[in-house]
Amino acid sequence: MNESRIRIRNLSVLYEGQTALKDVSLAIPDRQITAIIGPSGCGKTTLLRSINRLVDLTDDVKVSGEVWVDGQNILDTRADVISVRKQIGLISQKPSPLPMSIYDNVAYGPRIHGVRDRKALNKIVQDSLQTVSLWSEVKDRLHASASKLSVGQQQRLCLARSLAVKPDVLLCDEPTSALDPASSQNIEKKLIELKDSYTIIIVTHILRQARRLADYVVFLYLGQLVEHGPAKAIFESPQEARTKAYISGEIS
Ligand code: ADP
Ligand code: MG
Repeated sequence: MNESRIRIRNLSVLYEGQTALKDVSLAIPDRQITAIIGPSGCGKTTLLRSINRLVDLTDDVKVSGEVWVDGQNILDTRADVISVRKQIGLISQKPSPLPMSIYDNVAYGPRIHGVRDRKALNKIVQDSLQTVSLWSEVKDRLHASASKLSVGQQQRLCLARSLAVKPDVLLCDEPTSALDPASSQNIEKKLIELKDSYTIIIVTHILRQARRLADYVVFLYLGQLVEHGPAKAIFESPQEARTKAYISGEIS
């Protein structure tokens, strides 16, 4: 297993006093794809959103435990949330381009982080769009509104927007659930290409997708970590009865 960049210790999250995640501890391998799987409502999104502190934005939420990323506990109140979110990008379920042009969507993050030089921005925009194979489709209309793109293109744009600030970690919350099969395949292919350079965590409730993509698997059930390990071990020889039942489709 690759070295771990992210280590989670005793993470618990309560919404309005109700437990959504209970005492989760795990290490996530660097430069691999980790899939978080489990039935709807088991806490997958909550776990993902705890890793870049987006969970903070929820009203009446209580988070305890530690999330260590590169030697920093990002849950520490002294952690710089802006730089945490730069280092750890998130792509959500529904593509959510900003209400601005294609160019400005990608340039948005770098501008916030102080890149002003036009040439430098042009290069970041082009590189990011090329990485997600969107450049040739949009290079002649960079200043058109992002909302004009198809949903599949919008999701690749959101991926490009995340990559533009040069994160180390990419969090993807069911990134293909709003996409048609061809666009889904496109995103899956990109994630596989990107894993050499990034630590990727993908939430999915599609077991086939987890089998296609994951090197490492985390199985959550009712807010608890049931089992985690290399994908082959989890899919071929799960140790826990609940994992077996979920993998075989007995519980969903
Ligand atoms: P998953 O992504 O696996 O479907 P979530 O992390 O979204 O699960 O949710 C875990 C649990 O927390 C669920 O019971 C859900 O209803 C609850 N929950 C999620 N977000 C909120 C919120 N903002 N306020 C209250 N409860 C929430
Ligand atoms: Mg979810």
